[in-house]
Amino acid sequence: MAIGAVGEFELIKRYFARPEIARIQGRHTGDLMGIGDDCALLDVPTGMQLAQSLDTLVEGVHFPAHCDPFALGYRALAVCLSDLAAMGAEPHSFTLGLTLPRVSELWLKEFSEGLAHLAQKYQLPLIGGDTTKGPLTLSLQVQGLVPKGQALLRSGAREGDLICVTGTLGDAAGALEAVLAGDTQEDCADAHRKCLLDRYWYPSPRLSAGQWLRQSGATSAIDISDGLLGDLRHILEASGMGAVIAPELLPTSFALNQTYGQDAALGMALTGGDDYELCFTIPREQAATLPARIPDDCPITCIGQITNEPGIIRDSQGIPLIEKAYTHF
Ligand code: ADP
Ligand code: MG
Repeated sequence: MAIGAVGEFELIKRYFARPEIARIQGRHTGDLMGIGDDCALLDVPTGMQLAQSLDTLVEGVHFPAHCDPFALGYRALAVCLSDLAAMGAEPHSFTLGLTLPRVSELWLKEFSEGLAHLAQKYQLPLIGGDTTKGPLTLSLQVQGLVPKGQALLRSGAREGDLICVTGTLGDAAGALEAVLAGDTQEDCADAHRKCLLDRYWYPSPRLSAGQWLRQSGATSAIDISDGLLGDLRHILEASGMGAVIAPELLPTSFALNQTYGQDAALGMALTGGDDYELCFTIPREQAATLPARIPDDCPITCIGQITNEPGIIRDSQGIPLIEKAYTHF
């Protein structure tokens, strides 16, 4: 279907089949065929499994109308890559389903530059997709590789394992008001608020950290997209376990503490979504040998322990913590 004066095929050629996104050095050694035919073709090396994840973002639901297209492209791919990080997979390639209400070449240029930025950084080429007309919607699918049988699952947590998180939590929640108001980093006079906005629009998928944790004895992992309490609960459900955590130990950034004060910052760290840090479990013996910073220059903080009380999360005083994580329905 032609979606404007440029035409669908010319649009794909101009913005998505560009070498900066579609032909990443080192990936095209004959084992991968990308955009241009009816299907992409990729080899899965012997002994590896293909890890796949799809995320759909709808304008007005998952991102505000008229937001910065570069940031949108960057964030959409980062969010998707975060699922590969949580499995300990190495990124391989991605596909893009794009639904556009109209063709704006400026928008497409900036959006595709946001994608290209991360595609280059993580050496993952865009290998195909689909382009249609309709309300602005992005569907991104990432492919990754992980040694067979070794992906970090949600179901591996065991009683006594320590619960840890990467980075700082609550920053993206601290930016939400500004995001919804349509503020950009440039509008932001306050350096701390600008920092929070950066964390919302440019999350760092913890890819090296996830692969490192898979090789360092972590028993389960999840990326924190909906809020720590809600996402930890997914690990607990899959593992048939419970948890005790110390909310006062949650790592919060200087910017969040300065903007909202320590108490509110901890509340955001506990239930706020969109940070895309990892929550993982690891047996105590392995945890004892963990460095303070792991690859990605990523700090880790131990916040609690897995218990044998299925589905219950308690704080250090033994009081059950109830989450208010985001759900769509
Ligand atoms: P088909 O009609 O066979 O489904 P299309 O005409 O939709 O193929 O797409 C032509 C080629 O362009 C395919 O290789 C497809 O993967 C690629 N493509 C289409 N849309 C996009 C997009 N938004 N991003 C990347 N590649 C795309
Ligand atoms: Mg076809």
